[in-house]
Amino acid sequence: MTDVILRVDDDRHLAVRASYPDQKGPHMSDVNLDVHIAPMRPMKGAPPEGPGDEPMWSPMSATLIHGENEAILIDTLVTFDQVDALAEWIKGFGKRLIGIYVTHGHSDHWIGISRLRKHFGDVPAWARPKVQQRAAFEATNPGLSGYWQSVFPGEIPAQPDTPDTLDSSTIELEGSEIKIVDIGWGDTEFSTIIHVPSLAAVVGGDVVYNQVHMMTAETDATTRQAWIDNLNEIAALDPKIVVSGHHRVDAPASPESIGESQQYLRDFSKVAEEQETVEDIVKAMLELHPDRDTPRVVWHCARDAVKKREQA
Ligand SMILES: [Zn+2]
Repeated sequence: MTDVILRVDDDRHLAVRASYPDQKGPHMSDVNLDVHIAPMRPMKGAPPEGPGDEPMWSPMSATLIHGENEAILIDTLVTFDQVDALAEWIKGFGKRLIGIYVTHGHSDHWIGISRLRKHFGDVPAWARPKVQQRAAFEATNPGLSGYWQSVFPGEIPAQPDTPDTLDSSTIELEGSEIKIVDIGWGDTEFSTIIHVPSLAAVVGGDVVYNQVHMMTAETDATTRQAWIDNLNEIAALDPKIVVSGHHRVDAPASPESIGESQQYLRDFSKVAEEQETVEDIVKAMLELHPDRDTPRVVWHCARDAVKKREQA
């Protein structure tokens, strides 16, 4: 019987290991999982319309899954300094980076590919077909690429590399199988998660959030319900470790984030229906969820919810 050990190295680094209490020895090809978290940080953006609306980017995680000699990175972080720090951390493991897997199409999860290649050469980057399409769209759409350049001027590549299409839904790492689940709605459509059965671990991308305000602006009440159902699908995997794409510094990687994310989404749907104005939606959400990082996200999503209602 395998036990899973979660070690907290410091408030930005978590290590997940399998241990074999009854049998030690020739089992060393098993996979390990380590998490690096970049904290919340300021960005450029429109001035605040109220308390908490100051331009900030949410904390983000990148996950290294590694065997004895090789490693795969899940998601890339954003700015040059974030990605350089991530690269130095990866180098510390002394393993060969054989690929970068991208969980979903939002630029913050893949725009670091170009910078990682400055450190690791022409390492492949993979995404499932619909994720690849969304990433390519974000890279070329003038509005979206202009948005990314405007919030992180001089800190991201002008012509970012995008991931290539991965047709398989498994990745092999030194004989161990890493499973991809095309789960559907998270904070964007066609999201995927990574499941590592031998570690009872899920790397949830932006389907699961941990102590960070959730980006609901691409969803409505119906697709938020689909998102809640997808969180049930993650819970059914019975993970002991859950890593969120937006994971607050020092938050535990525990499966409680699944239910907490569901509650947040239910709250948002209820509040968006009951409250008239942007300010009232924000106020109600911050009363229910006072401690999450990046309240700027609530302001953005509240504005979007009011706009959707006016267009309906
Ligand atoms: Zn994200």
